[in-house]
Amino acid sequence: MANNTDKLGAKAQIDFHCLDNDCEGIVKFNLADVASSDFQAVCEKCHRPYELDGELRKKLQKMLKLIVTIREVEDILGDCSVSVTVAGGEVKIPYALLLTRLNTMISLNYGNQKVDFHLWVEPSSPDTFR
Ligand SMILES: [Zn+2]
Repeated sequence: MANNTDKLGAKAQIDFHCLDNDCEGIVKFNLADVASSDFQAVCEKCHRPYELDGELRKKLQKMLKLIVTIREVEDILGDCSVSVTVAGGEVKIPYALLLTRLNTMISLNYGNQKVDFHLWVEPSSPDTFR
């Protein structure tokens, strides 16, 4: 996975709201760190540790792979768009916009709770996707 991080050339950060009801903390970690089996995320406020099980880590690693792949095809993404049919006709949303300007979120199970993981990726260059 270190290889994937190199290819990504950017930091992909994940965060989610601490699952402790009394805590308003955000648990943040680097997506690439998930690869190590002893990985543990810690809430920065209440210091609750979160161990991610193998399945969850595998899914997050796939997410990283997706980001790396998107990076690799960035140049053609500028020419792709998604069209959405609305009342007045059709709206074209550039793929690049979808991937960079909107927040990406992945909802996965942590134990028996559904957790929304927010994903933040730095653009590889400020000029990408204009
Ligand atoms: Zn907390």
